[in-house]
Amino acid sequence: MKKQFETEAIRGQMERSQYLEHSAPIYMTSSFVFEDSEDMRASFAEEKHRNIYSRYSNPNTSELIQKVATMEGVEDGVAFASGMSAIYTTFAALLSSGDHILSCRAVFGSTHTLYTQFFPKWNIEHSYFDPGDFETLEAELKPNTKILYVESPTNPGVTVLDLERLGDFAKKNNLLFIVDNCFATPYIQQPAILGAHLVIHSSTKLMDGQGRVLGGITVGSHELIDRIYRFARITGTALSPFNAWVLSKSLETLAVRVEAHSKNALTLAEKLEHHPNINWVRYPFLKSHPQHEIAKKQMKLGGSIIAFEVKGGVAAGKRFIDNIKLCSISANLGDTRSIITHPASSTHAKLSSEERLAVEITDGMIRLSVGLEHTDDVWNDLVQALEA
Ligand SMILES: *Cc1c(COP(=O)(O)O)cnc(C)c1O
Repeated sequence: MKKQFETEAIRGQMERSQYLEHSAPIYMTSSFVFEDSEDMRASFAEEKHRNIYSRYSNPNTSELIQKVATMEGVEDGVAFASGMSAIYTTFAALLSSGDHILSCRAVFGSTHTLYTQFFPKWNIEHSYFDPGDFETLEAELKPNTKILYVESPTNPGVTVLDLERLGDFAKKNNLLFIVDNCFATPYIQQPAILGAHLVIHSSTKLMDGQGRVLGGITVGSHELIDRIYRFARITGTALSPFNAWVLSKSLETLAVRVEAHSKNALTLAEKLEHHPNINWVRYPFLKSHPQHEIAKKQMKLGGSIIAFEVKGGVAAGKRFIDNIKLCSISANLGDTRSIITHPASSTHAKLSSEERLAVEITDGMIRLSVGLEHTDDVWNDLVQALEA
């Protein structure tokens, strides 16, 4: 019988070994042995599915994949050493020279760098569309467009894209629709149910949720996953069994953590909206969010990320960061510890104000990844930094 999300996350573990352990053990082994020559022949002929070598598969990695695939409502997956490894390998396995990617403009920075600095070497083109503008989307289609790629909510602007509508568009135009679901997690939204063919995660973020390991995963149908898997196992992008074990343990608490992150984030977003030193706040579950209706339709909760703008431009943004005492100043997100980033003076400092605006970053904009500390303490920290 199909079980609920929380139950699968906990009970979806591998079979017990002869020791009858309660919690799944770690299989730190690079390879596996065979019974005899027939066993080895049949294994290499893929007549049986078993572990051969940990670059191909490992019990911990398989457990993690099975859990995430179930959470996303799809058949199968491939786990990777990092989120970028998942993104790169998925594109590289599915695209050929001459193909075109149609992508939302506000993508994760390293994904943008992949498009602009490396894919041209293999004659893989990309172009960007602006979310919500379905006219430009149509106009951006080319005869060689193969993939429609989006993130929602976006980083760092927290814009929400209508995944169902994009899914319909992809279907109509015979595109592979891929969603980076890292900000939402499968607890909040399941893009495959809205039409995505593949869903990608940086497991480094909320899946681990405690800032310990790097990891990535792509999930989807057996057919697509098999194409990615065959490329991945040859190019050696495998996740380590130890990290797979950490991540699978983390999934046991994903639902309760994401509930708490989202509750804390909504509390802080509502308070920030009323602070006089702030111009605007963007959080999907605030009524003032421009795509609030879409967010309510496709997301169970608002997630952990808030964007807001302090009055006074780049200088005010830097002053705010310099006065923060409790929150961490870091480029990471999705941790138990609340994290503050000022993109205009850090991750996006090389761009001009105009270039930053194109990716929804204003000079005084702050990205806050809300952690699991008590909101009173985080609020006190934000207020003293806003008023310093
Ligand atoms: C962090 C992140 C990635 C990249 O993941 P890594 O694990 O750092 O390689 C990709 N997409 C989004 C939305 C991210 O936040």
